[in-house]
Amino acid sequence: MKIDAVDFFYLAMPEITTEADGSQDALLVRVSAGGHVGWGECEASPLVSIAAFVCPMSHGVCRPVGASVLGQAFEGPADIARMAALVEYDSMDLLQAAHTWSGVEMALWDLLGKVRGEPVWKLLGYRRAEKKTPYASQLFGDTPQETLDLGRAARAKGFAAVKFGWGPVGRGAVEIDRDHILAAREGLGPDGILLVDVGQIFGEDVEAAAARLPALEAAGAVWLEEPFHASALEAYGALARRSPKVKLAGGEGAHNVFMARQLIDYGQVGFVQIDCGRIGGIGPAKKIADYAVAKGVTYVNHTFTSHLALSASIQPFAGLAHHRICEYPVAPKQLAIDLTRNHITRDADGEILVPDAPGLGIDIDLAALRTYLVDVEIKVRGERLFATPDLV
Ligand SMILES: [Mg+2]
Repeated sequence: MKIDAVDFFYLAMPEITTEADGSQDALLVRVSAGGHVGWGECEASPLVSIAAFVCPMSHGVCRPVGASVLGQAFEGPADIARMAALVEYDSMDLLQAAHTWSGVEMALWDLLGKVRGEPVWKLLGYRRAEKKTPYASQLFGDTPQETLDLGRAARAKGFAAVKFGWGPVGRGAVEIDRDHILAAREGLGPDGILLVDVGQIFGEDVEAAAARLPALEAAGAVWLEEPFHASALEAYGALARRSPKVKLAGGEGAHNVFMARQLIDYGQVGFVQIDCGRIGGIGPAKKIADYAVAKGVTYVNHTFTSHLALSASIQPFAGLAHHRICEYPVAPKQLAIDLTRNHITRDADGEILVPDAPGLGIDIDLAALRTYLVDVEIKVRGERLFATPDLV
C-alpha cells in the first residue's frame, strides 16, 4: 500500500467557551491507503494542526508534516516508525508537528488493524486486554460542601475512582484547600480512590505545593497531578522526594518520548499520564508504557474527548494488568459523543475493556459529523493549500 490521502475534519460546538474542557472542538483525521481507511484524532487546536500539515516549507527541517506522509509506502508498524522519524527530523522546527502527526499516526494504526483483522493492542504485542478502572474526572466544587456532594454523586453513579481538579484549589489559603480535599474524601467514602489534579497551579513553587501534602496524606489521595508546569522537572523531583506517600502524576504535556522519560527519571512521578493525541500517537505511548514498567512507574492514559481518542489512549497499556486506573471522559460535550457510533461503556462492575474489533474498534458517524463540521480554506498567494474535504 501507499498513503493516498490524509483528510482533516475540523469539528466544533456552536459556541466555544473559556472553560478548560477540551471536548468543545475536535480534529478528526482520515487516512486512505490501498482502498482502506483509518481514523485518528489530534488533541490540539484544529486550525493550527491542519496548517502544520499543509504549510509551505520554511527550510529543510521546517517542512509540513504532509511532506513526510503523503505517498509513503505503508505495509506495517515499521513504516509508521519510519514516518514518525521523518516527521521528527524534517519538522523539528515546527512545534505543532507532534500534535498533527499524533492524529495521523493513530489513523495509521487503525487502518493497519483493519487490514490485518486485529485490534491495535494485538499489533502492539499484547495477547489479551485487561479491564481498566475508569475514574470520573470532575472539577472541585466552589465550596467544600459542593465538593463533598460531587464526590457522593460520582460514587452513586458507580465510579470507584474519582479525580477532583482545578476550581478554587491552589488559588487561596492552604486551609481552604485542606477543607476541599477532606470533603472530597468524605464524599467518596473510605474506600473510594481519590485523585487530585491541580492543573499546574503552583508553577514551580515547591513550598506552595508541599504545604498541601498533609491534607492530601490525611485524605489518602493516591496521586497529586500536575502541581507544576509540565517541564518544571526540578520542582517535580524536589516535591516527589518530600512526598513518599502521595505520588506525583504528570505527563499529559509530553510531546515526545524524551519529555515523558525525563518526567519519570528526573521528575520522579509515580504515575505517567500520556495523551496519544499529543505525544506523537500510539507508538511513542507504547514505548513509555514499556519504560514505565521497567522503572516501576504506573502508566495512565490521558484523554478528554471522543471514544475514538479514548480507545487509542488505552491501546498502549491495554495488556498491563497492574496498570488499572484509566481516564474516562464522564461528561464531554455532545460533539464528542455524537462523533462515534459506538462507545466504550462500563460493565456491571463499573469497569471498561478496550474494543476487541479490528483497528481501534470505533466507528465514525459521518452523518453526525456534518452537524459540527467547520468549513475551512487555507490559501497562500492564491493557491489553495487546504479545503474541508467532502464527508463521503
Ligand atoms: Mg490533568
